[in-house]
Amino acid sequence: MTDTYLWPPQPPAALPVRGRPERFPVRRLFFVGRNYLAHAAEMGMTVDKTKEEPFYFTKSADTLVPSGATVPFPPQTQDYHHEVELVVALGAPGFQVAAADAGALVFGYACGLDMTRRDLQLKARQTQRPWDLGKDVEGSAVVSEIVPLPGHLVDRGQISLAVNGQVRQHSDVSRLIWSVAELIADLSRYYHLQPGDLVFTGTPEGVGPVWPGDQLVGQVEGVAEVRLQVGPAA
Ligand code: MN
Repeated sequence: MTDTYLWPPQPPAALPVRGRPERFPVRRLFFVGRNYLAHAAEMGMTVDKTKEEPFYFTKSADTLVPSGATVPFPPQTQDYHHEVELVVALGAPGFQVAAADAGALVFGYACGLDMTRRDLQLKARQTQRPWDLGKDVEGSAVVSEIVPLPGHLVDRGQISLAVNGQVRQHSDVSRLIWSVAELIADLSRYYHLQPGDLVFTGTPEGVGPVWPGDQLVGQVEGVAEVRLQVGPAA
């Protein structure tokens, strides 16, 4: 009886892998806050890398949806924002990894959207409460296929997001404050990183609201494209 459940368990979150029949089983979703100066500035913040460390939040793997999905406009927000991000997909474990060795954990990359109930995130920030209601939103972690680039540290390439064909965000991965290697090394001080973990590396400037009917296309040059259709509230 040990293998029976009261109801069918949720199948594991997974993403397609370019050029492979097997899917990438997703374990945890880590997100970096304020990793492009121009986005920090539009959020009313500054970042001094010489004095600060990166900070993180997480979303449940249950919030993951594949590129091409239609996701209902979420409840309790009037300011649902797009954030396009380079996503690192880990394929090997690591704990207390040096930045020089961080490449060994990399399986590949994806283009992701960190959809955010901005009004709830800002209210949480002001009242010094956790960000979960703003960030851990059902259907809010939208991710492209995983593109295998084992051992590779992506450090440049245009990143952009268009809504209904109009470009809203445009920058370059070379403007990351903390690089992919630095993020893996830093995160591995706090977590025993595992294959299947995804690290969203932060969004550039130009974030803004979306509404039912909007079509989003995000791109990271040399990696992949992610698409999302915002459906009616449900
Ligand atoms: Mn983000």
